[in-house]
Amino acid sequence: MPELPEVEVTRRGIAPQIAGRRISAVAVREPRLRWRVPAAVRRLPGRTVRGVARRAKYLLIDCGDGHLILHLGMSGSLRVLPPDTVAQKHDHFDLVLGDRMLRLRDPRRFGAVLWTTASVATHPLLRHLGIEPLSRAFDGARLLALTRAHRAPIKPFLMDSRRLVGVGNIYASESLYRARIDPRTPARKLTAAQCARLARAIKATLRAAIRAGGSSLRDFVGSDGVYGCFQQRYRVYEREGEPCRECGTRVRRLVQGQRSTYYCPTCQR
Ligand SMILES: [Zn+2]
Repeated sequence: MPELPEVEVTRRGIAPQIAGRRISAVAVREPRLRWRVPAAVRRLPGRTVRGVARRAKYLLIDCGDGHLILHLGMSGSLRVLPPDTVAQKHDHFDLVLGDRMLRLRDPRRFGAVLWTTASVATHPLLRHLGIEPLSRAFDGARLLALTRAHRAPIKPFLMDSRRLVGVGNIYASESLYRARIDPRTPARKLTAAQCARLARAIKATLRAAIRAGGSSLRDFVGSDGVYGCFQQRYRVYEREGEPCRECGTRVRRLVQGQRSTYYCPTCQR
């Protein structure tokens, strides 16, 4: 499933290729994605793409009088291709911009193509989202404030997008390892120093994945068609029974909220 780093890598890949260009055609081959693709999307030709932003895992394509909201769902990918490229079975949506097009491929159809003319911040899918972990506003003090009322363990807390967006299962385990915090610690028991370490660890983990081109699970292809390689660098994720890279203790797995958590019982006390 594409996580925040893959979406950010996609944004960086497509933005310079489509920004400033006029939309010349739109193709909706399959409107039944996670939500039905609205008819308004077919009326986009003539508008110019002003830029591509990201909020959580949503890509926001600014078309001047509105935003195209794209989500990659479980298996979606976006690529920039020559406009005469023959569509394959799962290529559901094209945004053609003269000599190139942005194409959405989504075999499982959990992705989204939506349109809004209202402020994107007030869109029902976006308005309840928590803070962006890579923003300046997110730091140890903010994490400390966010965690105070929560008895839940810190690992599932980190994955709750109403508080903090884009920290999926992989990045939650990896960040807690980097910060040397036991994933079972109640959120409100974290000290200010631990929150500062954890906020830095989350940013460092996400940035490393973005640099590596996004950690790809098998369905994700970046906008340049190259698979990412971050998963080879996981410190604990999916390394149950293997030695901790710091201390040699075997990495353990536990289940929290039906999701696997990986941690080092020595480094993360
Ligand atoms: Zn260790």
